[in-house]
Amino acid sequence: MADRRVALVTGGSRGIGRAISIALAREGLQVVVNYTAQEGAAEETVGAITAAGGSATALRFDVSDAAAVNRAIQQIVDENGRLDVVVNNAGIAIDGLLLRLKDEDWARVLDVNLTGALHVARAAARHLLKARESGRLINITSVVGEMGNAGQVSYVAAKAGLIGMTRALARELASRGITVNAVSPGFVETDMTAAHVTGAAREELLARIPLGRIGRPEEVAEAVRFLASLEAGYITGQVLRCNGGLLIG
Ligand code: NAP
Repeated sequence: MADRRVALVTGGSRGIGRAISIALAREGLQVVVNYTAQEGAAEETVGAITAAGGSATALRFDVSDAAAVNRAIQQIVDENGRLDVVVNNAGIAIDGLLLRLKDEDWARVLDVNLTGALHVARAAARHLLKARESGRLINITSVVGEMGNAGQVSYVAAKAGLIGMTRALARELASRGITVNAVSPGFVETDMTAAHVTGAAREELLARIPLGRIGRPEEVAEAVRFLASLEAGYITGQVLRCNGGLLIG
């Protein structure tokens, strides 16, 4: 088995995923940066990692496509000899109030955020089992999955489901030393929030955040870096919040 731990970050090309990819590479992990549409962003992230002395490759697949996920995970293991850390970060939001919610939007949000994470976990599980105490599964949920948010019923349901999945898989994989945890960011400055966290809505939000500011992707990445480390081996089934105090308790 190759010496270097290997990590897959789904949606690792932009925003929070990009920061996670960079943080794990800085720790010395070989990082696979997944994306689905924007190849340029994935190449840029890989370039930033290699320029800093790290090692990464970009890999295109849609997490909602189970067959594509299976092929991708097999390719990662064929090329790198192992898979130790999986970060289910890929996510989308299609917002809208209940009365106008379209079935296809509900399905797509669940497919990417929740079923996609299951596809990746299932395909990766037997490789994580081989990694034993080095194995880490980390799911990126959201503060709104814990407290709800008007106009985001599909996204909230998917993120709450991801917390349930984290707890179930933590119990299922614990006997082999693999840990499964979730990181729950509050509002973070990325393309996802750029569209709607603006103007008066932004001011209202800031007033509700005890730390008085939106989070940075690097701050979420730090939480993931810690949970992915060998030192975090006795933490499993937990939700680590990184939300500026927006939800406490
Ligand atoms: P983002 O800037 O919109 O980036 C999303 C990433 O996911 C991109 O790399 C994108 O790749 C990838 N992606 C989207 N659909 C995919 C699919 N079907 N298969 C594979 N990759 C896919 O989002 P972000 O704000 O960084 O959010 C990252 C994660 O954190 C998400 O799970 C999100 O729900 C969660 N989160 C975000 C916030 C926030 O405030 N930003 C708060 C709480 C939780 P392409 O570039 O190829 O499209």
